Amino acid sequence: MKKYSLLSLASTGFSKRNWPQAWGSRPLQDAYDVVIVGGGGHGLATAYYLRKNHGIRKVAVLEKGWIGGGNTGRNTTVVRSNYLFAESTQFYEHSVKLYEGLARELNYNIMFSQRGMLTLAHSRHDLDAQRRWANAMRLHGVDSDLLDRSQVSQLAPALDCSPQARLPVLGGFIQRRAGTVRHDAVAWGYARAADALGVDIIQNCEVTGFEVGADGVQALKTNRGTIKAGKVGLAVAGHSTMMADMLGFRLPITSYPLQAFVSEPLKPVLDTVVLSPASGLYVSQSDKGELVVGGGLDLYASYAQRGNLATVEQVLRGLVTLFPSFSRLRMMRQWAGIVDVVHDSTPVLGRSPVPNVYLNCGWGTGGFKAIPGGGWCFAHTIAKDEPHPLTAAFGLDRFARGALIDETAASGIAH
Ligand SMILES: Cc1cc2nc3c(=O)[nH]c(=O)nc-3n(C[C@H](O)[C@H](O)[C@H](O)COP(=O)(O)OP(=O)(O)OC[C@H]3O[C@@H](n4cnc5c(N)ncnc54)[C@H](O)[C@@H]3O)c2cc1C
Repeated sequence: MKKYSLLSLASTGFSKRNWPQAWGSRPLQDAYDVVIVGGGGHGLATAYYLRKNHGIRKVAVLEKGWIGGGNTGRNTTVVRSNYLFAESTQFYEHSVKLYEGLARELNYNIMFSQRGMLTLAHSRHDLDAQRRWANAMRLHGVDSDLLDRSQVSQLAPALDCSPQARLPVLGGFIQRRAGTVRHDAVAWGYARAADALGVDIIQNCEVTGFEVGADGVQALKTNRGTIKAGKVGLAVAGHSTMMADMLGFRLPITSYPLQAFVSEPLKPVLDTVVLSPASGLYVSQSDKGELVVGGGLDLYASYAQRGNLATVEQVLRGLVTLFPSFSRLRMMRQWAGIVDVVHDSTPVLGRSPVPNVYLNCGWGTGGFKAIPGGGWCFAHTIAKDEPHPLTAAFGLDRFARGALIDETAASGIAH
């Protein structure tokens, strides 16, 4: 792998040589020890850790389009670990810690900007709930601070904190180590590092079916032929139910479109991520100056990668209610991804009903922050055929046992 550094940047730039390809296009083999379906962040990170942490030799990632072209390249890039329950907090905190060292680990600038994430309280109830939430985080060793109205106003001066505000701001809480990460860079960084370790990353390769025998899946059928596999990891987000259908089981997952918006660029005006659960809005400012705006799900289940106008209106109404000065902004782009939502807003990570098939799905509106941690724990699960201690509670069996982890408050709005 070519080492990226200031020196290599300068020498390649000044010599006008072409940059070497960041990851290769090796030919597809007939058989692999492990095949990962889905070349999003989770699939690529899993392949990387399968090689790096567990030494699995023949690993392939099959991606029907281009890597990072799914939700990984469509999200609003918020990374945080401010969850309520111990199981979630500890897992997401592990992921944030991996993010903190990821640029160095992958030798790739993922642009992690730990600018903090501020959750607003608009009512007495919000204040009470946030007190419990922030204290629970502290008990689990995760940083969080409760803020009063004047502290909120100092952090986000563009926010309408006046007593006449349509949505009065009473206070809030902040996780200061939260922030944003460049989404494409996460996919590209993992792809480059996995490729260097010998992982075959096969783009334009769609899995269309499975050959299943008594011991589980023997081969995957793809638009590029049949591929034998010892084990199969599924990391296809909004398409997880389709995969399960091919394998003959059902998942407690519904796929919804989720939209995001980007404004024209502005001078620096907002240097933290702001979330307002009551208005269904969150916003941050990108390094290019654009406001990156997101909201809740389009509540019409669909596999179509486009959103509907009612949600556009609701999210932008929230934006101008909270930040009246933004009403003169032009929005430049809008798009949607298809997210895989579970009733308790907790992912599914573990074994499937088919013996050698493993599931990494149900991240819903919030799996970008989970990519390093998800890949780390999923690789462990596949390699050892047992759950990683950090994700043992995320198995499919929790629905049969009634052991749900209801993180709706922490995940109800995408971020
Ligand atoms: C608008 C929006 C905003 C979001 N904001 C945030 C946020 O701020 N913070 C956060 O943490 N999360 C956020 N999320 C959620 C986050 O993006 C996802 O949970 C995460 O990216 C999931 O990663 P993944 O690798 O599982 O899925 P994906 O990146 O979707 O990758 C799955 C891949 O599987 C491929 N695939 C599907 N079917 C097949 C097949 N049959 N054969 C081969 N390949 C196949 C797809 O092409 C796709 O590339 C947001 C999502 C959206 C849509």
